Amino acid sequence: MTESLMPTYGRLDIAFTRGEGVWLYDDNDEAYLDALSGIAVCNLGHCHPAVSRAISEQANTLIHTSNIYQVPLQSELATKLTQLSGMSQAFFCNSGAEANEAAIKIARKYGHSKGIDKPVIIVMDNSFHGRTMATLTATGNAKVHAGFEPLLPGFVRVPYNDVDALKMAISHWPEAVAVMLEPVQGEGGIKVPDSDYLDEVRSLCTKAKLLMMLDEVQTGIGRTGNWFAYQQTENALPDVLMLAKGLGNGIPIGACLVSGPAVGILEPGNHGSTFGGNPLVCRAALTVLNTIESSSLLSHVTLMNEQIMAAFKHALGHIEQVQIRSKGFMFGIELPIGCTELVQQALDKRVLINVTADKVIRLLPPLILTADEANKMVSTVSELILTFMAENTVESVA
Ligand SMILES: *Cc1c(COP(=O)(O)O)cnc(C)c1O
Repeated sequence: MTESLMPTYGRLDIAFTRGEGVWLYDDNDEAYLDALSGIAVCNLGHCHPAVSRAISEQANTLIHTSNIYQVPLQSELATKLTQLSGMSQAFFCNSGAEANEAAIKIARKYGHSKGIDKPVIIVMDNSFHGRTMATLTATGNAKVHAGFEPLLPGFVRVPYNDVDALKMAISHWPEAVAVMLEPVQGEGGIKVPDSDYLDEVRSLCTKAKLLMMLDEVQTGIGRTGNWFAYQQTENALPDVLMLAKGLGNGIPIGACLVSGPAVGILEPGNHGSTFGGNPLVCRAALTVLNTIESSSLLSHVTLMNEQIMAAFKHALGHIEQVQIRSKGFMFGIELPIGCTELVQQALDKRVLINVTADKVIRLLPPLILTADEANKMVSTVSELILTFMAENTVESVA
């Protein structure tokens, strides 16, 4: 069955047949708590009724026309996103990598407009930006690069959450045109920077006339308890904002938004996408945004974060080697050693989790997670960790 598929993924041996809210069901109708949301995609849970209804209505009305014509739903979605984000304009594509590709093209053209022939984009260690050639080059992970060299020129890398290193890179690279980063590193292991980091990056970029390009593909659309993670402070509005994952709750859509000096860089003929922003995906995304807006989900995320963190600290706080990090509904529990086997063990307990960066248990539950569901998530994951730590401590002594 799987031999005709390229083996690009290490898949678990399970398939789901339907989903509802935070629950996925296998073909025996066994329920699994999805504490991953299809990797930060199904923020409203599976098959949210409003989203499914909108998709079905739109599928029976108009799915695709192409960007040769006006697409009113695309304009409507752009207006909604600019209102929520404070950005000025949007371009629509189909994935996170494509949103970042658009950003990289904007940065390079911005450089050329300033007479910089070989523009340089400053990117971060331990980052993740996608799997296309430009975005894997931007990604700070040797495993993602391996086998695909030569990488693209025009990228330099600095440590994340290190303002001095960024300052030095900016003064060292007169060709620098942009800084590209995640507000919280997701794939990198839920790395949460200091609370003033984004503000500092913003002011360095403004001073040096560099574009601040925020990859909110994972952190955006309510995941951190704000619409966008940069909104946690007053002064971190980026020049370029990249979105995807949660935007369509499972319908593939990405967006690249611009403000300030990034407006007007791309001109007719510079960029495009055949599928990008078609009526079907825009209708889905508009419904996602309107549903979140008319709910109290953002404050729910902030409130539940506190309860979940308190519960994890209660269960695991006594183990010194275990670090617990979070922002909103992004949780990372770092163990001292690789722990990828916990994914299967959690699956056996009917909870879907992920391990990233080899030793960080990553939880990205749907924003609709209730207190009861949170308790199940925390107790299952904590028990697995306690057992794992006990067994591995014994082993290291033996
Ligand atoms: C998932 C992710 C991407 C890539 O998105 P795709 O839709 O898989 O191309 C880019 N950046 C970040 C921060 C991500 O989490």
